[in-house]
Amino acid sequence: MEKILNYIDGAFEAPCSDQYLDNYDPSIGKVYSLIPDSDERDVNKAVDAATRAFPAWSTLPAQERSNILQKLADLIDRDLDKLALAESVDNGKPVSLARRLDIPRASANIRFFATAILHTSTETHITDAEAINYTTHAPIGVAGCISPWNLPLYLFSWKIAPALAAGCTVVGKPSELTPMTAFLFSKLCVEAGLPKGVLNIVHGLGAKAGQAIAEHPGVAAISFTGGTVTGKKIAATAAPMFKKLSLELGGKNPNIIFADCDFENAVATSIQSSFANQGEICLCGSRIFVERPLYEKFVEAFVKKTKALVLGDPLLNETNLGALVSAAHKQKVMSYIQTAKQEGGKILTGGNAVNPTGRCAEGYFIEPTIITGLNEHCRTNQEEIFGPVVTIMPFDTEAEAIALANSTPYGLSATLWTENLKRAHRVSAAVKSGILWVNCWLFRDLRTPFGGMKQSGVGREGGWHALKFFLEVKNICIKL
Ligand code: NAD
Repeated sequence: MEKILNYIDGAFEAPCSDQYLDNYDPSIGKVYSLIPDSDERDVNKAVDAATRAFPAWSTLPAQERSNILQKLADLIDRDLDKLALAESVDNGKPVSLARRLDIPRASANIRFFATAILHTSTETHITDAEAINYTTHAPIGVAGCISPWNLPLYLFSWKIAPALAAGCTVVGKPSELTPMTAFLFSKLCVEAGLPKGVLNIVHGLGAKAGQAIAEHPGVAAISFTGGTVTGKKIAATAAPMFKKLSLELGGKNPNIIFADCDFENAVATSIQSSFANQGEICLCGSRIFVERPLYEKFVEAFVKKTKALVLGDPLLNETNLGALVSAAHKQKVMSYIQTAKQEGGKILTGGNAVNPTGRCAEGYFIEPTIITGLNEHCRTNQEEIFGPVVTIMPFDTEAEAIALANSTPYGLSATLWTENLKRAHRVSAAVKSGILWVNCWLFRDLRTPFGGMKQSGVGREGGWHALKFFLEVKNICIKL
């Protein structure tokens, strides 16, 4: 069985413990590879390597850093099919989605930051005729980048690309549920000629390997994407050490549909925003609010389209929904469906675990599920489920829609459907979320800020926000 290895100081290494964790293919429910069960000894080695590599990498001319990173992006494109297949097997997502979204976005992320550093500028302030101030941005040092399982290579690259482009060296930890594409990526780093120690990838459990990265005094900044509970733990560890922290956390995103919307577009896109990647995208709109005059019509069309979705083998091109990432996650999502029923929810379609016939009979599949009849305060509508489950609720006024949208502790993203431009501006301003899409969903310009309010996170990624996170700002004042 294939053994994944850590990538430390440019070499591939077994974990110090010599212990491995099982890596499951969730579409068949079987172990197919082994993951290093790394601990603080591996993290110490990785931080040492990153510290040694920092002086040379951080002072390499931007063009040279850019060239290496662009080579890496080219290699990802070359290996598109191989990486997409690996992502699908590791995560359970449809291979067609990985080929269309995950892998191309990984190379796009790298290319974006690799070229962004060729176009930087800095501020100068002239203080009357007395002094000149100029501001420098220097890489902060060794960065810890910790990523989740839902968009494995995509989100790993979203963190390490700005860090490396900025001149930091990195200790990265992908999720222990989906380590394969980061492992394949580490091989591409060698091929691209990334100097040893610049990127180190330590695989293993969050509470062990991840926690050791957060605790290590040699790591100056932590960029984390994952659950809100984990984010709190990392903040509790890293904040008293005055590490710079970027936390991209959970969501419970509203999808607000006004009666004057472009109906066909709203329904079709809501299918995507509800069930793409089995609903395992932090930006999925899991609470759908529909203005009452449109409610019945929307529900009917939405249920019909949902029933037409193809659930099953992620390796088949016609599949819309693959497997959930793990047996434990499937169990969690099913327990929320149970909770919804206990709370008085009515299941309009779905609600069941599925065992497809053939190859995937033991996989972790759940039908796309639509629930109505719940109020906004119940657990189903307050807690992040992170699966193919949405609720639909009617509303009567714009004020009520805004109140419903803002009724959770989260504030990551929101979607709004209306043809009324003034209303679009008013509601966008009033909804408390870091990202708002009007008449679209997941339309991303990599230059724009990305991140959440309230318990959805601290800080912003994307564009200059991401680069600046990895840079330390200094002002130099010269008396004339
Ligand atoms: P998770 O918090 O369980 O794990 C994320 C990563 O943190 C993993 O690599 C894990 O090993 C590591 N980790 C766990 N405990 C740790 C600790 N004590 N110290 C350091 N690292 C630790 O999240 P998950 O289940 O992998 O991902 C799903 C969650 O991620 C959802 O809540 C989802 O909303 C969120 N998410 C947010 C965004 C965003 O941009 N805001 C994007 C994707 C996913």
